[in-house]
Amino acid sequence: MTNAIKEALQVRIEEVERRISAACEKSGRSRDEVNIIAVTKYVALATAEAAYELGLQHLGENRWQDAKEKWEAISGSETDEYGGQAVWHFIGSLQTNKVKDVIGKFTYIHSLDRLSLAEAIDKRASQLGLTVPCFIQVNVSGEQSKHGLEPEELPAFLTKVKELSSLRIIGLMTMAPYETEAEETRPVFRALRDLKNEMNERSILPEPMTELSMGMSGDFEVAIEEGATWIRLGTILVGKEG
Ligand SMILES: *Cc1c(COP(=O)(O)O)cnc(C)c1O
Repeated sequence: MTNAIKEALQVRIEEVERRISAACEKSGRSRDEVNIIAVTKYVALATAEAAYELGLQHLGENRWQDAKEKWEAISGSETDEYGGQAVWHFIGSLQTNKVKDVIGKFTYIHSLDRLSLAEAIDKRASQLGLTVPCFIQVNVSGEQSKHGLEPEELPAFLTKVKELSSLRIIGLMTMAPYETEAEETRPVFRALRDLKNEMNERSILPEPMTELSMGMSGDFEVAIEEGATWIRLGTILVGKEG
């Protein structure tokens, strides 16, 4: 591990921390309500390892093929050589035939967007004796290019997935459209929060949803102000290589 990688990363982490704390303060939230997922999809193994060694315990990837090498190096051995425990988040769209690779390795799934996927996750999790915490991805912005359920589809979807006993719906996830002004993403994040509250008021699930996975490099402060509990940071935190 070169120290240069670590030193550069430490500077970024401190800067991001400062901005997260400021956003929490501005919105009257406590810093410990917001969890950081370091999205390592744009960086090589050495940087992902450095991020983990510097204390970024939650790591996010959106394709198993790209994540494999990092997962094996960081979590693949029986005893974690760093003495801690990495927690992996699957944040990209998940093909049903990849469920067998991902479940058991990635603790959280952020991209649940269809019943066939929920059923495949449930089946695999039950074989492994696990309960998988999932976020339902919602296409709040209505952009054609975005994955996720339409907000109107959510009640019926929740009614169906609550029957799957090896899967636990803990919250909602969304991606805001790319905006040059972060402020313009606010209505999307606010709508996701409102949707979570509305679903909880209707008590469709046995337990209320507590989590909101929203906010990326360009818009995480707005997401925090609107109630994000998980922000997914790639470029701004661990950088972009190659
Ligand atoms: C790549 C990705 C991120 C991180 O993107 P940055 O803008 O680099 O922070 C977050 N969420 C999802 C779903 C992604 O695919």
